[in-house]
Amino acid sequence: MHKFGGSSLADAGRIRHVGELMLAADEPRHAVVVSAMHGVTDAFIAIGDAAACGDDWQAALANLRQRHVEAAEALLEDSHATRQWLDQQFQELDDVLRAIALLRQPGHAALARIHGMGEILSSHLLHACLRERGGDYARLDAREVLRVRHGELGAIVDWDASAARLAEWRQANPQLRVVVTGFIASDADGQPMVLGRNGSDFSAAIFASLFDADEVHIWTDVDGVLSADPRLVPEAVSLPALSYQEACELAYFGAKVIHPQTMTPAMARGLPLLIRNTFNPGFAGTRIDAEGGADSDASGPVKGLTLNSALALVSLEGAGLIGVPGTAERVFAALHAARISVVMISQGSSEHSICTVVREPDSARAHAVLLDAFSRELASGQVQGVQVVDGICVLAAVGDRMAGTPGVAAQLFGALARARVNIRAIAQGASERNISVAIATSEATRALRAAHAAFWLSPQTIALAVIGPGNVGAALLDQLQAALPRLRRDANLDLRLRALATSSKTWHCEFRGSEEWRVRMQAEPVTTDLAALGTHLLDTHMPHAVIVDCSASNTVAEHYPAWLAAGIHVITPNKQAGAGPLERYSAIREARTHGGARFRYEATVGAGLPVISTLRDLLDTGDELIAIDGILSGTLAWLFNKFDGSTPFSELVREAHALGYTEPDPRDDLSGMDVARKLVILAREAGLSLSLADVQVQGLVPDTLRDADRDAFMAGLAALDAPMQAALDAARAKGCVLRYVARLEANGNAKVTLQELPNDHAFAHLRLTDNCVQFTTHRYRDNPLVVQGPGAGPDVTAAGVFSDLLRLASSLGARL
Ligand code: ADP
Ligand code: ASP
Ligand code: MG
Repeated sequence: MHKFGGSSLADAGRIRHVGELMLAADEPRHAVVVSAMHGVTDAFIAIGDAAACGDDWQAALANLRQRHVEAAEALLEDSHATRQWLDQQFQELDDVLRAIALLRQPGHAALARIHGMGEILSSHLLHACLRERGGDYARLDAREVLRVRHGELGAIVDWDASAARLAEWRQANPQLRVVVTGFIASDADGQPMVLGRNGSDFSAAIFASLFDADEVHIWTDVDGVLSADPRLVPEAVSLPALSYQEACELAYFGAKVIHPQTMTPAMARGLPLLIRNTFNPGFAGTRIDAEGGADSDASGPVKGLTLNSALALVSLEGAGLIGVPGTAERVFAALHAARISVVMISQGSSEHSICTVVREPDSARAHAVLLDAFSRELASGQVQGVQVVDGICVLAAVGDRMAGTPGVAAQLFGALARARVNIRAIAQGASERNISVAIATSEATRALRAAHAAFWLSPQTIALAVIGPGNVGAALLDQLQAALPRLRRDANLDLRLRALATSSKTWHCEFRGSEEWRVRMQAEPVTTDLAALGTHLLDTHMPHAVIVDCSASNTVAEHYPAWLAAGIHVITPNKQAGAGPLERYSAIREARTHGGARFRYEATVGAGLPVISTLRDLLDTGDELIAIDGILSGTLAWLFNKFDGSTPFSELVREAHALGYTEPDPRDDLSGMDVARKLVILAREAGLSLSLADVQVQGLVPDTLRDADRDAFMAGLAALDAPMQAALDAARAKGCVLRYVARLEANGNAKVTLQELPNDHAFAHLRLTDNCVQFTTHRYRDNPLVVQGPGAGPDVTAAGVFSDLLRLASSLGARL
């Protein structure tokens, strides 16, 4: 049995393709169930509604007629007979619609006749095409054979009557190959009926049973059942195997690729269903059977995710409900009486509230009938109220192996929490095959993607914005570019740069590593608006958003609290926030706690060296800080390593400046403020409320040059030489060297000073721009813990930022 959906039959070319596929099939016997051409059922439904309301339907009908006539002409060598047949069909339809327009109250049968017309037409076209190409096919109008009646859960097949009618039909139509109309049937009186939207999947399973088929192939426009709706999760993957139960749950919860009722007839006879792609016929697609690929270990506990939208949450709350039997029954009886179907139910064991999810168009009625049903309790105050929240989606995770696997719910809830999705209600069936959560529609796509990545169904996707593509920013972008393919392949991590901002211009981009970002930056820039940057990132609906601030700007730091509160993670080598005003620092910490976002700034001290994380580890494991001593400036380290009296100090400053080791204005280094800032960051990390003003700083810039402009300062540098030479001589006389050292004590004493250190001191033997930090703690009392290595330069700083980013990604679920 083969079934082709509307997308496989959208036009003459596609119908021809289907014909060729079937003619090439090597089964001696087969039946082909068809849907209407794509969009035709929708159009017929609209036409029926328009006629019933007295609106214009003629134009739409003429359109449909035209579309089918054109398809026939393009499809067939000799389309004459088919065109005549089409004329006759559309003439009859015209008559029916006129009658409906006149009476305004169409019966079920008249509407079903119109709604199911698409299948009559498409089956005729395919049949004519097959016959013209030499195929010996019969055509079966399912209304002649298939007998069904209405049931609460959809159409119910009268198997005996249908089998008897098919046997009769077979006598007149003994061909081994048959084209069958999907979707349509008739009732016991022979009046037309339809099987519900997407019902031709169901038709295929029914006819497979009636024709005693061995397999059902459902041909559609995607590679089988995917792990999620590909329109919402582009990374969704094809599932090789599903059990009937898994397929039912996925279909029931909205995976449109297969109609939920399809499984019942197949299950009854153990018929395998194969979901295949008409446009990729060589691909195996998805096999649905009793085993569902149970022996293969390839899949995790969750096979797929679905999203059901346009729902509403209706809940009844009241202290008077506690321990009162029959409340739930009354809720459901009231909804049932109003013919409102309940999508999801959840009740806490406190029995204080009962929460149901219904379709959004039913929510106002649900509200009214519950108010009515509980009017007495509402009046007496036993029930506080009935709440309705529209704009709800239900996200469901489905998989047989969820049963008995602990932690699946935690994985789902964790992923949603990290993606800042608020869960309104939860339900898990006792079969443990499905966990459903009700969430706001505005968060649904992000939630679906986050959950999809959390179950390893697709990579963890993170939207990134980089501010300040200067030295460090540029190095970071280059490092990212080089690492992206490997991260995607090995770590299941997909980092997407969505914005690149300088202080004036922002480039919105979609950078995935293969493009040259310097070129991308030429794309249409918009004026930088730091507040809008956060919104832009969140609007991408990616599960996670990160802003990397590689600027040295205080203005950018001003935005951290807002970004963090909105759930955007912030990573930075910028010292402004860490060493800036205490109120802002507290606001950042507060926002971080509230928004659930992380703030990481390892590269603010010691560039790529693990200075802050080491301090955190010490403190988090319960150690107590006694003191931190450090060489925290790569620039000053280099200067004093080099300064041995053979070259004047001013010469060395000029050389360092030329080599790019200093800030553009070397006074930023020589003033000691940069070191003081780092010390403040470390002090705050250690829990001390320190500010820059609390640090005792011995600057090296002579008073005369402090307020000069930069050129004047560079010109007057020689003023440094005499005092520095004197300091060096004095140190030498004691067998010491000069080093610019920062020291923080547990009591909050903090100072950065030029010191004379003995020749055998650890700080006396550092190389080039090495930083060195000594942590003296309770555990490391006698011999401090030392972190040492190159502490300046764009590459190592960028690497520090990058490792913060990866640590964050790993905490969000990447496999690092
Ligand atoms: P047909 O016309 O063949 O019946 P449908 O449009 O009814 O096709 O169903 C196929 C479509 O279902 C796909 O194109 C896809 O966009 C959508 N879809 C939604 N969820 C899923 C899923 N989990 N797996 C595959 N497709 C899905
Ligand atoms: N043509 C019908 C519909 O659009 C049935 C189907 O496509 O399965 O609902
Ligand atoms: Mg379908």
